[in-house]
Amino acid sequence: MRFVGVLTALMLGLLAGASSARAAEAEAAPAKGIVAIDARVAGDDKRTRFVLDLNGTIDFAAFTLADPYRVILDFPNVRFNLPTAAGRKGRGLVSAFRYGVFAPGKARVVLDATGPVAIDRTFVVGQHDKQPARLVVDLVPTDRETFIRNAAAKAPANPSVSAARVAVEADAQAGKSGPPVIVIDPGHGGIDSGAIAPSGVEEKDVVLTVAKKLAEKLERTKLFRVVLTRYDDTFVQLNDRVQIARMNDAKLFISIHADSISRKEGEARGATIYTVSDKASDAEAAKLADKENKADLIAGVDLSNKSDDVANILFDLAHRETRNFSGLFARTLVGRMQSATLMHKTPMKSAGFIVLRAPDVPSVLLELGFLSSPDDVKLLTSPAWRETVAGAMADAVQNFFQSHLAEVR
Ligand SMILES: [Zn+2]
Repeated sequence: MRFVGVLTALMLGLLAGASSARAAEAEAAPAKGIVAIDARVAGDDKRTRFVLDLNGTIDFAAFTLADPYRVILDFPNVRFNLPTAAGRKGRGLVSAFRYGVFAPGKARVVLDATGPVAIDRTFVVGQHDKQPARLVVDLVPTDRETFIRNAAAKAPANPSVSAARVAVEADAQAGKSGPPVIVIDPGHGGIDSGAIAPSGVEEKDVVLTVAKKLAEKLERTKLFRVVLTRYDDTFVQLNDRVQIARMNDAKLFISIHADSISRKEGEARGATIYTVSDKASDAEAAKLADKENKADLIAGVDLSNKSDDVANILFDLAHRETRNFSGLFARTLVGRMQSATLMHKTPMKSAGFIVLRAPDVPSVLLELGFLSSPDDVKLLTSPAWRETVAGAMADAVQNFFQSHLAEVR
């Protein structure tokens, strides 16, 4: 168990860049940490200014990413204490922005641009009189060619690719003994909030709490070793979630999410269990997979190097056997969940989720309910409901292993 912990820590270190880089970042950041207290966008589509108010000055890096056009601002340890609605509405060349933890010790703001833009100026103004410190980024319009050239020159290398490689190597040395490993994957995290209820409840928080509850229940049986893909409010790339399951030689991968639909689309309630398929079981399932698969884009991950897209390669190698076990577990889970909570009218669906594409790990994705439904939000935020649902999920896992342990081990 400790070995797995070390590997996970090693991997998280790599997610943040090299561990030496992380140490350097920690040194550069003031001991007390900086807090972002307000943010705004000003100007028009000739020149747009993004301003972040802080309680001290910091160094930051700014670069652009294409498809869709984004401007990324990376900082060392910054905490965000911004007004709830910050970033949902844009102005000028910025249509919206997001912020949050991107990797341990690394905070990020992603500005969605309305078209190709260039970073004209960036500067930091120290605190003076009663004004907070300010970080300022000025954007001006440019053409696509210039944008692509600038993006290629400035974007830092994607750290997670090397993490994935190390993970696979580590897997070869990890050995296959011990109790079966269950990997629980709380969706989203950090800069990627996932769905947001009208009341402000965020998917990333709901699913982390339920994931921890489930982990606790499974650990109590002493029959399993449990690994979470994230233990706190940190962003983890989709491929890394798959790799964490593979490197730990997981016998089951459970991704936990909560859905949301717009008022236009109507009303929906209840839990749904998804497995992976090339062709979605229906249009809503396809739409949901698209939405969940955008997590990396939302967080400002550079996906331009398609040859490193592990998920696509993995999918071609997927074993029919793994899919059979995924289906079997999904049915067991539906059975147990049905007695614990309200299910969606079609409780079992399939679509092309990146996070379910490990060729050798039976995987399901559970949507606990709809954050767009006030009645579902009441359930999702209720400690009693979380307890019951986590209990039903733990039962399903035990039942699955009791019935199929010989085959899965
Ligand atoms: Zn989600």
